[in-house]
Amino acid sequence: MASTHQTTCCIVGGGPAGVMLGYLLARKGVRVTVLEKHKDFFRDFRGDTVHPSTLELMYELELLEEFLHVPHQKLRSISGVVGGFRFKVADFSRVPTHCKFVALMPQWDFLNFLSERAQQFDNFDLQMEYEATDLLRGRGRITGVVVQTPDGPKEITADLVVACDGRHSTIRKAADLPMTEFGVPMDVLWFRIGRHNDDPEQLFGNINYGRALVLIDRGDYFQAGLIIRKDSFEEIKTAGMESFRGMIARIAPYLADRVHELHDWEQIKLLSVKLNRLEQWHRPGLLCIGDAAHAMSPAGGVGINLAIQDAVATANLLADALRERRNTEELLQFVQRRREFPTRMTQAAQANAHKVFAQLFRNSGPVRAPWQLKAAVRIPGITHVMGRVVGIGVRPEHIKKARRSPAYRNGRVVKIALALGVAAGVVIVGHRFVRRAA
Ligand SMILES: Cc1cc2nc3c(=O)[nH]c(=O)nc-3n(C[C@H](O)[C@H](O)[C@H](O)COP(=O)(O)OP(=O)(O)OC[C@H]3O[C@@H](n4cnc5c(N)ncnc54)[C@H](O)[C@@H]3O)c2cc1C
Repeated sequence: MASTHQTTCCIVGGGPAGVMLGYLLARKGVRVTVLEKHKDFFRDFRGDTVHPSTLELMYELELLEEFLHVPHQKLRSISGVVGGFRFKVADFSRVPTHCKFVALMPQWDFLNFLSERAQQFDNFDLQMEYEATDLLRGRGRITGVVVQTPDGPKEITADLVVACDGRHSTIRKAADLPMTEFGVPMDVLWFRIGRHNDDPEQLFGNINYGRALVLIDRGDYFQAGLIIRKDSFEEIKTAGMESFRGMIARIAPYLADRVHELHDWEQIKLLSVKLNRLEQWHRPGLLCIGDAAHAMSPAGGVGINLAIQDAVATANLLADALRERRNTEELLQFVQRRREFPTRMTQAAQANAHKVFAQLFRNSGPVRAPWQLKAAVRIPGITHVMGRVVGIGVRPEHIKKARRSPAYRNGRVVKIALALGVAAGVVIVGHRFVRRAA
């Protein structure tokens, strides 16, 4: 007979969405239990990017100063090379946040930091090696989860279960929520390769010979991601390691002197890229957020940011009701309503990026940068606009009732002024049109 534990909010999954939500709810006085199936956060590479908007949340939580003591690299701009043409893609120097950079920090450091800060709240409970395997149901709603633990099976009952268990979500499947899958033409191979101090700086994407290579600076090595045609890893393996090393050296010639570090396919991990979205993110007693609600492609490196933004919106909308143990049924749809638009916009941008990659795979020879790209990167201010799009994203969330940075307040003033200007323009033009028609 499984033992039973009771909590107010049971969060399944200790990734960016789950740990951030656990922290925020505990901070608001909600009794919260976070379940993570692994025994620690130290796992394979799953993205390292802490965006300016996430750093701004750290500021609002008064954690920023401490957080920036965790070792990280600062990515102040993103550059790319197409064929031999080098250009800046995004510049973060004017984003309206305190930190004008993306912090490149191993995800396990980020999760350790946040979960350690959450432990200061008595009502925060993190259970490692707890794997949720099914849902508990009663009186037409979800009432908890069944968990496999080192001490055997357990049942955890809760007022609300939040699925933050990522793109292969067990909870989402158990709840049988309908999902829309979007086709993706690419997969990614992740591996590490040495970095030298004289390597090109703030360089991210290298595109040539029908492939794209992303390089994330991790101090003495690069976390590298090679974008390949979907399901072509077996072909690459069959061609052999020597050919793989040659491919890397051709795309980024400055890596030629260290490709010998790659000698075993065990060093190279395949990420089968997915892009999907739940049609409905909730059922009575259950909410899905982060990749569990919408698996993101690594294009743009925004999945972590989006998962965290979902967590902030969820805490803002549900914390009071959960603390007072009120019914949250009505509120769950507000979370989806608030977060679905930014998700749709971001996924649409990623789907467009996939089309560019699909085009790229058609030409396996040397690439020449198209004139459209050369013209686009010369548009004044475009790199700052891109910096804002990548660094802040669509509809950034804020910690409810927290201090706002003056930079953000100014940003809001500008937005309101622009909206009023556009509204005034529409009224004047409409008025003239009506007068002329009369
Ligand atoms: C190889 C790779 C590279 C990526 N690169 C980037 C990047 O550079 N930048 C970026 O922003 N995004 C990147 N992404 C996407 C990003 O990792 C995700 O969008 C983001 O992590 C989603 O956060 P999440 O908390 O929703 O889910 P996840 O990070 O997937 O976390 C889910 C957690 O739930 C746990 N879990 C799963 N099932 C259970 C269960 N049944 N019971 C208990 N625990 C469970 C998992 O162990 C995991 O810790 C990358 C993804 C991958 C796979």
